[in-house]
Amino acid sequence: MKVLVAEKCGFCPGVRNAINLARQTLETDTKVSSLGHIIHNEDVVKQLSAAGLETVDSIDAINSGTVLIRSHGATLEEFEKIKAKGLKIVDATCVLVRRVQKIASQLNEEGYKVLMIGDAGHPEVKAVVGYAQDVEVIGSEADLDKLSLRKKIGIICQTTQSPDHFAQMVAAIARHGFSEMKIINTLCRETMERQQAAVKLCRQVDIMFVLGGLHSANTRKLAELCKKHNPETYHLQNWAELDKKTLSGKKTAGVTAGASTPDKVIEEFVKNLREYKN
Ligand code: SF4
Repeated sequence: MKVLVAEKCGFCPGVRNAINLARQTLETDTKVSSLGHIIHNEDVVKQLSAAGLETVDSIDAINSGTVLIRSHGATLEEFEKIKAKGLKIVDATCVLVRRVQKIASQLNEEGYKVLMIGDAGHPEVKAVVGYAQDVEVIGSEADLDKLSLRKKIGIICQTTQSPDHFAQMVAAIARHGFSEMKIINTLCRETMERQQAAVKLCRQVDIMFVLGGLHSANTRKLAELCKKHNPETYHLQNWAELDKKTLSGKKTAGVTAGASTPDKVIEEFVKNLREYKN
């Protein structure tokens, strides 16, 4: 089968940095805990766990050693709790996520109520909410009904949302009649480039595969976008999950992967697909 790979896919700099920091820390420190899964990829989590990285849901579960903050970041309260316990911090918060946190608190200082377009349950969004004082998360247009008409609104976005969704939500917010809206583009360029490359590719192929963790927001978004342009799109974690029946009658396949998908998973999938005889 002819297989084309998206021009840009796989690990982003933020995720690569978090994994490298985790590996380096495990080499030097005896007890290392990660606050939540270091990235949304089961294979990487298992590898790091085998090397000694413990994953915990709450700081209450850590009494000694080093705490690794993942690329999605943590709230100010969590940082203070870790410091109060006398634990060492290794901070792998992505620079772009830190930028969103700073912008949210600056907007509050300037008197704006912050509206963050994103998924309220996502760790990055939770961290931003816990960083600033007056932030409301807007997941869909329905969430706008709960807003009271305030004069000054500052709008930001979860880094991994699509530009189209951001623009659509900004338009919906504008229709609410706020007299002052300050919009700051906090989308991640790496994510946008992956989305553009995926859409371009999925239009040229008979079948499209999006590889990555089922909990990875950016992978899910990639799959959602590709599905819109090519209904024959499948979100899989690896080659083992592929139902070979889907390949029947297909000549060309496209492959992309989320920002937390290791190169090894992509390479193995592409190799097997190229060798597959329909
Ligand atoms: S997707 Fe973008 S914002 Fe998120 S960790 Fe990667 S580089 Fe940072």
